[in-house]
Amino acid sequence: MEDLQSALSGRGLTVTTHPEKGRCIVSTTNFSPGDVIISQDPYASVPNNSSVDVKCDGCFTSSNLKKCSACQAVWYCGSMCQKSEWKLHRLECQALARLSKDRRKSVSPSIRLMMRLYLKRKLQSDQVIPKTAIDNYNLVEALVSHMSNIDENQLVLYAQMANLVNLILQWPDINIKEIAENFSRFACNAHTICDNELRPLGTGLYPVISIINHSCSPNSVLVFEGKVAVVRAMEPILKGSEVLISYIETAGSTATRLKTLKEQYLFKCTCSRCMKLGFDDDIQESAILDGYRCKDDKCNGFLLHYSDDNAFRCQQCGLVRKKEEIKQITSEVKLLSDKATTSLCSDYLEARAMYKMIEKLQLKLCHSLSLTLMRTRETLLKILMELKVWREALTYCKLTVPIYQRIYPTVHPLLGLQYYTSGKLEWLLGDTEDAIKSLTMAVDILRITHGTNTPFMKDLLIKLEEACAEAAYKLSP
Ligand SMILES: [Zn+2]
Ligand SMILES: [Zn+2]
Ligand SMILES: [Zn+2]
Ligand SMILES: [Zn+2]
Repeated sequence: MEDLQSALSGRGLTVTTHPEKGRCIVSTTNFSPGDVIISQDPYASVPNNSSVDVKCDGCFTSSNLKKCSACQAVWYCGSMCQKSEWKLHRLECQALARLSKDRRKSVSPSIRLMMRLYLKRKLQSDQVIPKTAIDNYNLVEALVSHMSNIDENQLVLYAQMANLVNLILQWPDINIKEIAENFSRFACNAHTICDNELRPLGTGLYPVISIINHSCSPNSVLVFEGKVAVVRAMEPILKGSEVLISYIETAGSTATRLKTLKEQYLFKCTCSRCMKLGFDDDIQESAILDGYRCKDDKCNGFLLHYSDDNAFRCQQCGLVRKKEEIKQITSEVKLLSDKATTSLCSDYLEARAMYKMIEKLQLKLCHSLSLTLMRTRETLLKILMELKVWREALTYCKLTVPIYQRIYPTVHPLLGLQYYTSGKLEWLLGDTEDAIKSLTMAVDILRITHGTNTPFMKDLLIKLEEACAEAAYKLSP
């Protein structure tokens, strides 16, 4: 802990303890938007490989992969990544190679992550891999496990998984109870490693980053550069303020966010947004995000429960919608959604038709700024991008932007990425002026959340330059 404090003090940070929240990371200096507050390599990490989708263990890329010839269970993009992972994989490889082929296939990413945690601990205690102040097993042990709060079924599952790890590693002095507790630690502390466009690639344990607490209106953001976790300030952070990131998608209504945090991270959020639960403006916000639209097509009012919960009433024009009617459309949507999810994996053309039907029904059902409608449109955008129907994809991208602008703060990676998608589509379609506007808005946000040195950002900056050059060329006589 002392080592950690001195390592952090050099970065303008300190660890303090809060009576309810436990450990916190507090700034001892001022940070400006875009500043890197802290970055950390994972203590252990693993790509989220499946039978149909594999990635390099070293860098998580999915192209030009070759199997490890000894265990046939792990992939690499080349000798560089294989070499960088070899100290750890050498032991893992021996353990995996002992298993039957079928058994090896059933080793899930979470089992592998646990194996790698123990292998790393062993290699550090054997001094094969050096320990540092921010990279050692003591920091993992100090993370909350919430063992006393998890239910019986979950405990049984963790015990079974711990047994499997024991079976694979075959270490005589391993403590199965401790492995089970570490599974519980993973559940509330491990981070999903994402690419620059926030698509999940794998899982990693970052014991110092895990000390950073959650807020639904955070001042910082966690992004990944390869496997390195990087926390950047999204707004000015003054000396003495707690550094806060969000563990969840912050777009949800207060009730949804509280539920997700309770279920996944086992705590009750007391951030400024959650403290508004039940207040008038929060009720109104939830009625828009999760609620229904007015019966009158031209009215944009929000609906609240009316007359013994059998109906909803528009708070703007007073029109009443019967619960029966809402129920019927909801069940139609549900029926279609089940089919649509399946078609999403097999047939994009069919999926497009189905999601359009869902959108049509939801337009009758949901508030125009509702998250439900927004999610359908996000899915349609993805489908249309896959189908390369650019003009229509742009239409759907544009439909989501006003909702993004409303639910996210002005600096938020998802808003920046949506401007980026918009700009790319406009550029592709020859709408140069629009592309410049969208790409500029994307750069303004993403240079803060993603920094300016990654290949991803360089690519974006080049695109913007090209668009500007073309616009200048068009203007020249
Ligand atoms: Zn690689
Ligand atoms: Zn191997
Ligand atoms: Zn909150
Ligand atoms: Zn109305």
